[in-house]
Amino acid sequence: MSGSARIVENAVCLGCGCACDDIAVVIEGGRIVEARNACPLGLRWFGDGSLPGAVLGGRSAAIEDVIGEIAELLRSARSPLVYLAPDLTSEAQRAAVAVADQLHAFVDGVTSATAPEGILAAQRRGRASATLGEIRNRADVLVFWAVDPALSYPRFQSRYAPNPRGVHVPNGRADRTVIAVDVGTQRGPDDADVRIQMTPEEEQLFLASLRAYQAGRTLGGAPIVARVIDLATRLNRAKYAVIVTDAESAPSSPAPTMRADSLIALTQSLNATTRGSLCTLRAGGNRNGADMVLTWQTGFPMAVDFSRGAPKYTPEDATLARLARGAIDAVLLVGATAALPSAVASALLGVRTIAIGPRASESAIDASIRIDTGVASIHESGIAFRTDDIPLPLHAVLPTPRDTASLLKALGTAIAVQQGAA
Ligand code: SF4
Repeated sequence: MSGSARIVENAVCLGCGCACDDIAVVIEGGRIVEARNACPLGLRWFGDGSLPGAVLGGRSAAIEDVIGEIAELLRSARSPLVYLAPDLTSEAQRAAVAVADQLHAFVDGVTSATAPEGILAAQRRGRASATLGEIRNRADVLVFWAVDPALSYPRFQSRYAPNPRGVHVPNGRADRTVIAVDVGTQRGPDDADVRIQMTPEEEQLFLASLRAYQAGRTLGGAPIVARVIDLATRLNRAKYAVIVTDAESAPSSPAPTMRADSLIALTQSLNATTRGSLCTLRAGGNRNGADMVLTWQTGFPMAVDFSRGAPKYTPEDATLARLARGAIDAVLLVGATAALPSAVASALLGVRTIAIGPRASESAIDASIRIDTGVASIHESGIAFRTDDIPLPLHAVLPTPRDTASLLKALGTAIAVQQGAA
């Protein structure tokens, strides 16, 4: 490190939902040259922090004029969509939701495309959940259900569980039992103490049998019941059992609704005999923040329709369904387009789109107007929510080309002025 370098301590990585807040970012010559403590996924997410700062496609180069032009375009749309892509601060998410409200638009984020099952199941059943701090300090039995955090949440095991010492597990890993449930190719951690394997076809029966056993009945043939009894016994004997599952569905394996529902029911039933909670892992870019802000502003975490002037929840008719049937005629796409679910990116083809976000000017999305802004936590300060819905303060480590929240507030003002003049 040269003498001209500076170090920003306790930066937050949004490379995955773990939102590690112990990153020391080394800046030299206006670039990130090191992100200490970050895992390989986090290093890729930080990159070198360089960004373009372009404004493309407007009739004028002046940003005020381009904002006015965007306001006109969106106001002239019959059924606009405001879409929250990843890497936004919650302040920017809030400003985007306010714009959707003004436009009587449909507003949605990536959750409806990648992780709706867990949200809908929690709305049906409630959820026994815990903060990652509680899991770190209490969990003595951990079940990794078809997820190996080493792949997509690389520091989960070293920061939260099973490795760290905790108040009630003073010997760390030695005090905890790790159970891997492998469902087909979706495997739990390699170093688990106990491994239970099943095919994707068996999973539904296994979960039903597990729920039946917890309710005092048996269901299924002897091979399944034996595995169910083994797992249930270990869970019921735990002082604090945690089921860890991946809320994000891989494109090749749609998340089974039954799994989300059943794991919630299982953790709830554990609290009759011991203590148990469900830990759902979410991907990065402040996805939980989008759900939290939408819930806070509208009462619903995704797929909110303002077209009647008041928020209406339409999870059965979310972004992909609306784009597929041609029900969207303009899109305000806010956030990192590179992190869009591929199905959403494809569905946007041919729809008039305005992109505001980091590297919007370089995006493969066919947007008529593109404005480059910064990445939450790297260039923009504010709040982001961890996978357990805990808010964390973000302190930017580099200057932003243009602050997303301020830009969206200016857009809201331009829409209000035009609406007042109409
Ligand atoms: S585990 Fe996730 S949040 Fe932590 S450094 Fe790695 S990518 Fe970033």
